[in-house]
Amino acid sequence: MLNKNVPFLETKIEYLKEMGPQRAMLLNTELGIFTFRELLEHYPFRHEDRSCLIKICQLSDEMPCVQIQGRITEMRIVGEGTKKRLVATFKDETGSMELVWFQAISWIQKNIKPYVEYIVFGKVTRFGDKFNMVHPEIDVLISAQPPKLGLTPIYHTTEKLKKRGLDSKGISKLLEALIPLALPYIQETLPGYILEKYKLISKSQAVQFIHFPENIAQLQKAKARLKFEELFYIQLRLLHLKTERKQKCDGQVFQKTQLLTHFYKNYLPFDLTDAQKRVIREIFQDLKSGKQMNRLLQGDVGSGKTIVAFICMLLAIDNNAQACLMAPTEILATQHFQGLKPYSEMLNISMALLTGSTKKTARTKLLEDLEKGDLKIIIGTHALLEDSVKFHNLGLCIIDEQHRFGVAQRAKLWEKQSKTLPHVLVMTATPIPRTLAMTLYGDLDVSIIDELPAGRKPIHTLWFSEKNRLRVFGLMKQEIQKGRQVYVVYPVIEESEQNADLKDLLKGYEVICQEFPQYRVSILHGRMKPNEKEAEMQAFKEQKTHIMVATTVIEVGVNVPNATMMVIENAERFGLAQLHQLRGRVGRGAEQSYCILISGDKISKEARFKLSTMVRTTNGFEIADADLKLRGPGDLAGTQQSGILQLRFADLSQDAFLVQETRAIAQKILEDDPLLERPEHQILKQSLFRSKQTMWSKIS
Ligand code: ADP
Ligand code: MG
Repeated sequence: MLNKNVPFLETKIEYLKEMGPQRAMLLNTELGIFTFRELLEHYPFRHEDRSCLIKICQLSDEMPCVQIQGRITEMRIVGEGTKKRLVATFKDETGSMELVWFQAISWIQKNIKPYVEYIVFGKVTRFGDKFNMVHPEIDVLISAQPPKLGLTPIYHTTEKLKKRGLDSKGISKLLEALIPLALPYIQETLPGYILEKYKLISKSQAVQFIHFPENIAQLQKAKARLKFEELFYIQLRLLHLKTERKQKCDGQVFQKTQLLTHFYKNYLPFDLTDAQKRVIREIFQDLKSGKQMNRLLQGDVGSGKTIVAFICMLLAIDNNAQACLMAPTEILATQHFQGLKPYSEMLNISMALLTGSTKKTARTKLLEDLEKGDLKIIIGTHALLEDSVKFHNLGLCIIDEQHRFGVAQRAKLWEKQSKTLPHVLVMTATPIPRTLAMTLYGDLDVSIIDELPAGRKPIHTLWFSEKNRLRVFGLMKQEIQKGRQVYVVYPVIEESEQNADLKDLLKGYEVICQEFPQYRVSILHGRMKPNEKEAEMQAFKEQKTHIMVATTVIEVGVNVPNATMMVIENAERFGLAQLHQLRGRVGRGAEQSYCILISGDKISKEARFKLSTMVRTTNGFEIADADLKLRGPGDLAGTQQSGILQLRFADLSQDAFLVQETRAIAQKILEDDPLLERPEHQILKQSLFRSKQTMWSKIS
């Protein structure tokens, strides 16, 4: 019985007549489908075209799945044991082929009858001059009813569900039963004027067509509508969050700038670039506005984000607040700490480092000082998120390389300050494409450092294949003779002792030692003890060694301006963003720098695209776009956990235009009607509220 008090779409799926309690339970546990709404939203991931029948004489190897009408003339069992199979001869008026089953043989024998018209569907493979089809889908053709041609939805399912008859077809049968009942209850989620302007079909029509389109045009309309809705609500949600925060969230007011001026005048070792000055002004505006800052700072590798971060921290400290800087890895946190230490010492500001390997006694003292407010700046890894870390008055929170942290973690840092939320500055080192940024950080204001410090020369990138290694050694020699230093980086995926990658690195180290007997060579990899790493790093920094053979531990780690050549071994195995990061380790001084990519002699088309992109451009944004094209957004490090990017219809690498368009629409709506009070916007308010609930339930 349907419960009258529950909205129809929230009805439990066991109440669907065709379902049965056991299958309902399996859908609960296997796919997390509990309600009619969730079943309706179990959209097919593709459709198979059943709109035409193929004749056996037309078959060819390259065809995708095909549909053939004919009769079985003979069935026989062939082979034994695991090779045992049922083979049927299947004929139409143009020829004959074979159908093959390895499983459920006795069931097929019992139920499939010779000389009855069937429609079979599947992928054909050629054996000699005969085609066969393994485990075809097979349907009886009842003469009174024409074959059900058209697009067949294909649904995700699981082995357990299949055993209970809920294969794709079984799920499709349930939806066939549910949709006619549900259609009257499906509410529109977009205002009429938007549907009209963008020529979108209604929500209920879209739901019907996405499952059971009669033709491609209907399917496309359904997808277009659902994609629009998906992107639009992401933007509406982010912008709404932003508007809401701007209204509600007060921030501490940081007005004093004495400390900053003191630092500028006496200690800053270089002139800031215009871009750095501009973003500092933008940030300062936020900090004195009385509202909580939520800002994204984007800037290419080497553009000088760290000093900007430090300057912002000075503003916080000058105004009696504390600041923290969180980095995704221990190496990066340590580097920030070491890099900023000279400044903090000159200014007499207490600053500490907190990571997973901070010793207990040091940690206890540090946490005490932090809570008392004696410690002004703390730099660290996600260890900063632990509950034991309490601030006296956290005023500014800086997160480096945000995309490796999740939205939930960002929120956790905010909670560390109960009175007024701390100001938040998120820095991304790897440039991300605009559309991705809009979607991931759409609730943040954006500042961009689009200029490198003066005197930097663009890095020359060269690409050699394995067999030209001697030329690479020659180039390395030339560089070292000029008094410069060289990195050689190996891809080591998992740094265990048995690891083949690590052996490559060690062998490479030996080869280089032999090849360059007159020079000293450092080595750095994840299996070394922290103090060993430290010592090797220090030796290279002090120019006691000439070549540094390393794994990607140096990706974000080091800053040695005298190192002007980066040689990357097996470059095809790195991702684009990572190659760009690695290349950013050189070109930090005034000298011309080089990046040399060494790849296998034969590499894939994708790898060639990747390496030629590196040779062609040093522009991080261009590289980010190419990366997005290659890998798709889901794969860009850590983006999945943000919960925002589980897109079902849109593809950020292809729908850039729609992302911008829907953002503009959402922006306009919130400008005109910030609280969504107008009657035509009530549906927006309702859907927004619902989507917010599901989003947060996913994150926590
Ligand atoms: P990133 O943006 O990649 O984090 P960093 O902050 O590590 O870059 O800066 C890279 C290097 O450039 C550092 O050695 C830093 O001291 C130096 N630097 C930063 N700003 C300037 C500037 N305006 N002029 C000269 N060097 C600068
Ligand atoms: Mg940095």
